[in-house]
Amino acid sequence: MASHQLINNAKQIASQSPVIEVLGLRKDYGGVAAVAGIDLTVAEGEFLSILGPSGSGKSTLLGLIAGLVQPTGGRIMIGSRDVTLVPPAQRDIGLVFQSYALFPNMTVAGNIAFPLAVRGANKRDMKARVEWVIDLVRLNGLENRKPSQLSGGQQQRVAIARAVVFGPRLLLLDEPLAALDRKLRDEVRVELRRLQRTLGVTTVLVTHDQDEAMSTSDRIAVLAQGLIQQIATPAELYRQPANRFVAGFLGIANLLEGVVAREGDDAVLTLDGGMKLPLPSGNALPGSRATMVVRPERIDLKPATDARTSRFGIDCEVVDVVYHGEVVRYTVQAQPIGTVIASCQHVVPRFSPGDHVCITWRPEDGWLLQESEK
Ligand code: ADP
Repeated sequence: MASHQLINNAKQIASQSPVIEVLGLRKDYGGVAAVAGIDLTVAEGEFLSILGPSGSGKSTLLGLIAGLVQPTGGRIMIGSRDVTLVPPAQRDIGLVFQSYALFPNMTVAGNIAFPLAVRGANKRDMKARVEWVIDLVRLNGLENRKPSQLSGGQQQRVAIARAVVFGPRLLLLDEPLAALDRKLRDEVRVELRRLQRTLGVTTVLVTHDQDEAMSTSDRIAVLAQGLIQQIATPAELYRQPANRFVAGFLGIANLLEGVVAREGDDAVLTLDGGMKLPLPSGNALPGSRATMVVRPERIDLKPATDARTSRFGIDCEVVDVVYHGEVVRYTVQAQPIGTVIASCQHVVPRFSPGDHVCITWRPEDGWLLQESEK
């Protein structure tokens, strides 16, 4: 799907009626705010990830939505119902955790049927629904195995099947793929997204893995110190981060700090050493201190001898070269800008440590943070 379609989908989703509405939500542990006042809405059918480093409050926020953690303040609505004080079992949610938490003595089919059994479903309906969901998560042929006879990926698919079999209003997942090795993680991630699309179930996923969040989500809420730093589509977060934290947490960000100035019709960023860098057009406030973000793949590297032919360029020395297969990552240094990382689609490295190069980028590929937020 083209990225503009994804953005349009995400916009459509954001304009739909919210399934989850969180207002001024707080959870304090002693003097520490694990969740420090969060407002959040999740739309019907949306896949939202909560992304942040360890200790940022992700699991606490999910636990609050699930009803496993009691809030210190604020309100949680699911649908039009205030569930702030409603126990987890009455919130109509399916839950999946990192540890699969399957019943070891029950078969795959028995584990998946369990939520239906506790809800008093009749045998025939139960059998039909279990078969349907086993098909959906592609566990056919494994119905009668015990969890210990399954791989980690298969066990997690059983846990996901068990979470959705009763048709919950919400699916909440806390680091569901963290225990899997990389290849399995990628497989289960694709399965999870496919399943979510098929069912249309509103989903909230907690993860510390930016690739996981980027590849599954309609929108991502980036969390730090119990607060949402930004909530947006993956492309908006990457291309238009709200602050330094978001810029640095999603991918590599070259940060260039200076003062905004006008030069005729153009805006420039004057670095501390006096060097002037072109700024993207926009409403940069002259005289204000600001930080420009330039992503590594936007930077062009040329031999230093070509430097004078480009409109603007910064002479640098290559200090490190790492071959990644799909790109070559160069670390370059120059006195006015410090260290900058450039990712180039070179089949083999074209420059070596010690080489003198000139770096350049299109002004519109820079993104200005209108604050000197640390
Ligand atoms: P994350 O899921 O992003 O790793 P958590 O929500 O687990 O973060 O934790 C956020 C903060 O709250 C951390 O500082 C953590 O130590 C603290 N915390 C979480 N649960 C408890 C608890 N039950 N008792 C005391 N402190 C807790």
